[in-house]
Amino acid sequence: MTATLVDAKPVMSIHERIAALTRSVLSGEEISRDDAMWCFELENTADIFDLMAGANRIREHFKGNKIHLCSIVNAKAGACSENCSFCAQSSFHQTGSPKYGFVDPEPVLEAADEANKKSVTAVGLVAAWRGLKEGAMLDEVCDRIRDLKKSGKTRPDASLGLIGSQNVADRLKDAGLECYGHNLESSQRFFPKHCTTHTFEDRLATIGYLKKAGIKICSGGIIGMGETREDRCDLAMSLREIGANVVPINILNPIKGTPFENLPQLPPMEILKTIACFRFILPKQEIMIAGGRTVNLRDMQSMVFTAGASALMVGNYLTTLNQPVEKDLQMLKDLGLDPDWDNHGFVDQQ
Ligand code: SF4
Repeated sequence: MTATLVDAKPVMSIHERIAALTRSVLSGEEISRDDAMWCFELENTADIFDLMAGANRIREHFKGNKIHLCSIVNAKAGACSENCSFCAQSSFHQTGSPKYGFVDPEPVLEAADEANKKSVTAVGLVAAWRGLKEGAMLDEVCDRIRDLKKSGKTRPDASLGLIGSQNVADRLKDAGLECYGHNLESSQRFFPKHCTTHTFEDRLATIGYLKKAGIKICSGGIIGMGETREDRCDLAMSLREIGANVVPINILNPIKGTPFENLPQLPPMEILKTIACFRFILPKQEIMIAGGRTVNLRDMQSMVFTAGASALMVGNYLTTLNQPVEKDLQMLKDLGLDPDWDNHGFVDQQ
């Protein structure tokens, strides 16, 4: 039987479907979970490059040529009570990672100085502990945030674990905190496979307090922990739902002594595809490539921007080294990209 013209709807090629999704995201539409999953399942290298080209156009449309740079200071290291399987600082794992108490004012101010000289927008105080409650430690944390704010040299950020109450979040805001890092880490389904001392829901509750206090949210996750593509897709969907402003993507760097020490590395093309998928799902957010990029992407690091990333964690990570900031700045210059000193990563997201 001859098909009617109506029946004979042309089947879209992969190239055409990526182009249609790109147009739709550029026009302000949200990508559906089904379409996002279809992107995550692309296997062919040529198709992944097509997807990256779309993600790059979306990044350019919403972010221009600006790249947001953040750095961190390890404000309290090691001996953490939590059992996150990827983390060198958990007291459950024997990793030989350094341990010390809450940082003095001087190293924090030095980090602000350094950041200012190198066009880095933010310095985040990061502490290895379960979280922050009211008490003397909260007073000390607020003092350090005030020091950073007063220096006028950087945006004070922090990543201090679970927040115990609304009042803690309000105190941080009053001290001058603008942005708080609290990764969801993975999909809700996969979360218990890397942490059992707290839950995905505990993390959502902390994000709720922070948002109510008017603090911007930096929240992303880690890929390469044995999660499926569906888990990665659902993590990105959850991040869209919570309204994360900055979305760090960490790539597991398996640390000796942790339960994940023998996990195989993700292939670079799978990492770049994941970044591109995140850009389709989170078109206006700062998508920041954070820990694990040097060791996992090697010579392909600069391709994170053509895959849709708009931000970079620079300087050393908490327990592992990164390439020098100067090398990152040169990479941006070579790509015709500019450090985003003024925007603070928070405009044009709504
Ligand atoms: S990721 Fe954070 S909460 Fe988990 S063990 Fe490491 S420092 Fe502790």
